[in-house]
Amino acid sequence: MEQLKLNNGQMIPQLGLGVFKVQDADDLKRSVADALKEGYRHFDTAAIYHNEAWLGEALAQSDVKREELFITSKVWNSNTTYDETIAAFQETLKKLQTDYLDLYLIHWPSEGYNEKWRAMESLYNEGLIKSIGVSNFEKPHLDKLLTTAKIVPTVDQIETHPYFQQKELNEYLRSLDIAHEAWGPLGQGKGNVLEDPTLAKIAEAHNKTIAQVILRWHLQRDIIVIPKSVHAERIAQNIDVFDFKLSDEEMSLIAGIDQNKRGAADPQDEEWLKKSLSMN
Ligand code: NAD
Repeated sequence: MEQLKLNNGQMIPQLGLGVFKVQDADDLKRSVADALKEGYRHFDTAAIYHNEAWLGEALAQSDVKREELFITSKVWNSNTTYDETIAAFQETLKKLQTDYLDLYLIHWPSEGYNEKWRAMESLYNEGLIKSIGVSNFEKPHLDKLLTTAKIVPTVDQIETHPYFQQKELNEYLRSLDIAHEAWGPLGQGKGNVLEDPTLAKIAEAHNKTIAQVILRWHLQRDIIVIPKSVHAERIAQNIDVFDFKLSDEEMSLIAGIDQNKRGAADPQDEEWLKKSLSMN
């Protein structure tokens, strides 16, 4: 498994398993067991996914040592203050049955994020989180965060796939030495990116699937990916992307299919951000 070095010196496995929308305990435990068997060590959850406790159980049941795992979770938007962020973090730790997180993210740039960041910095300084970061932060959010932040985020986890490549934000993150992590790397199974003819041709040339080509493309852009699947065969397929390389020409062909088309919520949609404060 390839690892990337974050701006604080910590290493992150460049590919992990996402568990968004896995709403069944048995599905989650089985897929985590399958993933561990296939070599996954990085797992991405969030308080709002309501499955941290199942992930905690699945990891506790495995014989992989805690220090070999990389666990990410996220503080939800309904926690808007310093104290609420600390309390949410403690709850997350308990559910995950661990005494530290590898990465903790502010899930969205909703109300109070500068204060939430201050809480994350305290937890980081206490050694309870190895790396802190943000998610769904665009340039204006990062700029505002950095007016009060003492620590630069290690990661920004943002929607990214071949139809929404985030070229500008990718460059801005690079200029700040913040790692780009892709959520929805496969387009969330929505739209038709998994049937794209350009990707299909490239996949055929490498004897790989379109999903594998997409994941390889992310990796070659130095992006961290956390594809989700609960199917053993796809879990195995999604990590089997380290034995081939896309050429520069193939990388540019994929750059050319960008539609700059978001598939989910817009982080600059203030109305949605406000509504999200009462989602739980
Ligand atoms: P994804 O792009 O990983 O797509 C998952 C879907 O793709 C699956 O449900 C399945 O339908 C399909 N799929 C997976 N592997 C496949 C394969 N090999 N072949 C064909 N189809 C395949 O979407 P996601 O789950 O939304 O994103 C990945 C992870 O990112 C999530 O599980 C979660 O951990 C994280 N995430 C974070 C945010 C955020 O706001 N920070 C938002 C969404 C997701």
